[in-house]
Amino acid sequence: MQTSALAALDRSHLIHPVASFREHEELGPIILKSGQGAYLTDHQDKQLLDAFSGLWCVNTGYGQQSVIRAATEQMERLPYATGYFHFASEPAILLAKKLVDISPASLKHVYFTLGGSDAVDAAIRYITHYTNSIGKPGKKHFISLQRGYHGSSSVGAGLTALPNFHFNFNLPLPTQHYLPSPYPYRSDVQGDEAIIAASVQSLRDKVAELGADNVAAFFCEPIQGSGGVVVPPKGWLKAMQLACNELDILFVVDEVITGFGRTGPMFACLDEDVQPDLMTMAKGLTAGYAPMGAVMMSDRVYNAIADGAPMSTVVGHGQTYSAHPVSAAVALEVLRLYEEGGLLENGRRLEPVFAGGLRALLDHPLVGDARSRGLLGALELVADKNTKARFAPELKLHDRIFQVAYRHGLIFRAFGDNILGFAPALCYTEADFALMFARLRAILDEVLAQPEVRQAVR
Ligand code: PLP
Repeated sequence: MQTSALAALDRSHLIHPVASFREHEELGPIILKSGQGAYLTDHQDKQLLDAFSGLWCVNTGYGQQSVIRAATEQMERLPYATGYFHFASEPAILLAKKLVDISPASLKHVYFTLGGSDAVDAAIRYITHYTNSIGKPGKKHFISLQRGYHGSSSVGAGLTALPNFHFNFNLPLPTQHYLPSPYPYRSDVQGDEAIIAASVQSLRDKVAELGADNVAAFFCEPIQGSGGVVVPPKGWLKAMQLACNELDILFVVDEVITGFGRTGPMFACLDEDVQPDLMTMAKGLTAGYAPMGAVMMSDRVYNAIADGAPMSTVVGHGQTYSAHPVSAAVALEVLRLYEEGGLLENGRRLEPVFAGGLRALLDHPLVGDARSRGLLGALELVADKNTKARFAPELKLHDRIFQVAYRHGLIFRAFGDNILGFAPALCYTEADFALMFARLRAILDEVLAQPEVRQAVR
């Protein structure tokens, strides 16, 4: 179908996630047609270098034939098997075992979802079941971080601390609370140890304020993704785990973005020997080739839920497509590519090229901060490098950047507060990075050359 005809249908009928409905009616869709390796082609045959892995998920890159074969074979053999009651399928069982093998040792049990939001939602429901099961029904408050993102389920969106996810949705709930983000570039305190100590103290203070008997869990991302790729100091995650253990609240790590090689190891938790009570994941689990997420839990949480009701009372949480066999077959092959296929190793090998490329842009008049871990990184653009003042929202700098970037054939995330987020696929080559950074500098130069932008820079 012609691009213009498709666009008209889209404007009339397709609701887009995280978009202004009216603005989208004006702008219309950007229709993508195909992908190969790190590159996408749009409906008008324009080639684009994807520096965002779709939506931080296509960690393998596009067009991986072995993944396509795994999905096809599973579809031919058994396209669907319920996980309800006592049914199962071979790929789902093998995937559960594989995840237990490659995740932190504390995690022994897996519930499969369709993505990250419902993994967080499942975690919240299981935690509620757990606190009731252990006879502490007062433990109903949840703590997360400012700038945190935990998806958009009806309750989970309240743990997300981004205003657009609350506006007109009657969130956050009175049981949802936030701590300051461990944000080195904009922190009141200086130095890694001081930032970690401030976070731990803010958790202690919040728990004291609410009463430890009323707090169920603390949720966090090892690196805050949608909040602007906020990279806390190494050691922060472990310190938060230990504080949660001491305060007797569950420690839940949301690895939806950071999992599956995005920050180097299979999970960011493994870098610091972090042992969560629960962990959520999605995205890189299937590299976006099929929908799937998961929540993993420790023996302690699992056993309390298991013993929390009489033998014949089911734990009433489920989805038709939980443990979907095609998604599980895809995930098993994607995991093989990360390990035996060398993708994890390639990502680690190229981490210095990525980090160095970002840092080299610090000399650009627009760039105030460059930060990254593994192949997850950001540039923060500021109007004044000395005061770190942001650009006025009326300038709509992020829209300008997105448009110029698209013309230059580069896809990344331009957040509203002028943080540029990058998550290149683990299959990137040195040549892909060279092209990415050449385009990025040209994009920043072109945006800076716009008179309104030049005027706004101090
Ligand atoms: N948690 C985190 C940390 C995420 O980054 C996301 C999505 O970006 C989610 C949860 C929600 O996942 P999904 O969009 O698959 O529902």
